[in-house]
Amino acid sequence: MSERRLFGTFGVRRVANEVLTPEFASLLAVSYGSLVGGTIAVGGDTRTSTPMIKHAIIAGLLSSGCEVVDLGILPTPTVQYAVRNYYDGGIIITASHNPPKYNGIKFVDELGIGIDREMDLAVEELYFNENPKRVTWDNIKLLYQEDKIIDEYINEVMKRVDLDAIKEAKLKVIIDCGSGAGCFTAPYLFEKLGCEVISLNAQPDGSFPGRNPEPIEANLQDLITMVKELGADVGIAHDGDADRTIFIDEEGHFIPGDKTFALVEKQMLKDDNGGLIVTTVATSTAIYDIAKEYNGKVIATAVGDLLVARKLHDENGLFGGEENGGLIFPDFVYGRDAALSASKVLEIMAKEKKSLSKLIEELPNYFNEKMKIECPDDMKEKVIKKISEEVSTLGFRVDTTDGVKIFKEEGWVIIRPSGTEPIFRCFAESKSKESAEKMVKWGISLIEKCNG
Ligand code: MG
Repeated sequence: MSERRLFGTFGVRRVANEVLTPEFASLLAVSYGSLVGGTIAVGGDTRTSTPMIKHAIIAGLLSSGCEVVDLGILPTPTVQYAVRNYYDGGIIITASHNPPKYNGIKFVDELGIGIDREMDLAVEELYFNENPKRVTWDNIKLLYQEDKIIDEYINEVMKRVDLDAIKEAKLKVIIDCGSGAGCFTAPYLFEKLGCEVISLNAQPDGSFPGRNPEPIEANLQDLITMVKELGADVGIAHDGDADRTIFIDEEGHFIPGDKTFALVEKQMLKDDNGGLIVTTVATSTAIYDIAKEYNGKVIATAVGDLLVARKLHDENGLFGGEENGGLIFPDFVYGRDAALSASKVLEIMAKEKKSLSKLIEELPNYFNEKMKIECPDDMKEKVIKKISEEVSTLGFRVDTTDGVKIFKEEGWVIIRPSGTEPIFRCFAESKSKESAEKMVKWGISLIEKCNG
């Protein structure tokens, strides 16, 4: 199997104007455009390098003979929504939650799902041949601007929740847009949902002056303080391209992404009397517990949001997600969507008439621990093979969908090689914190032993 040289798990991500130059972006866009054809939508986040890369991409697409629609600055899922409904493909310029110096290019297919591995390789091959197909001057198509898609996207989110219930609850919401693409959607959406909205970092700014675009607890201290000081019902934070949402409860507690996933899963299964849930092998057992209770079935893929999205499409699933709080509603967008995730949680709070802390407390409770350890890339395959052999001699049940997941009596441990860094990641989950800590250390010792 040939290896991808440019693409990570979803597109290309590099330091802007180092590897990710206009020439690089343009040549990649010609390669993609010549394979796809038709009308391609282009959009991006608020990064300072986005206009430079976007114009290079538009030039490349036009050069390949595609018609191009420029959607402007907007969330990744808004582009995915637009492509699924109106276009033949799409390119999104974003580095998601990464620091300001990075940017990236994500390619989606006609369903708005990140292109598959086969297509990654086809685009790369044309790129490295440096001889992609360009059209003659009289076959160069038009470039359009489209700025209505954000309004349509917001309206479509509103159609998918109980508007009356949310309006009646009169929730006080603090939204931290992180100066990212969510500035153009989130405050307006919550306003339309009848919430009392206080916005934080809601000025689009690619230098991300207010906070780092990754919505982890350490970066959300201002939001946490504001929720407590102002007595809000909930704090909501988006990452840089507004595909992920993180919640702060009314007491100022950071809610881990897998809890939000479980909360929304429960409501979706209740409302639909069951259904198919898709997630990854690294997600909490709570997802399985809830599925069992509410007539659901769970399929687990390898780690990667586009794998979950693809499976939801192929199996006609109800709902999906990842442990980091990326939630996928396949009847809307085949990718993580922050706006609908946030609206769904507001709907659950309104309908259940309970505080967010209470709703989280009612979910099955597990403890997770994460560790990582260095390992050279060329050793990874050998180490994984040795670990599989080692644990099977110990008699544990093993799942090898992605790395090695080992089921023990107290819980599970998953050991996965990183796709982008020379490290192994190890996650463990158990019913107690102590036991999760013990298990993650056991996982690391296993890697050390097999890498010796
Ligand atoms: Mg993102």
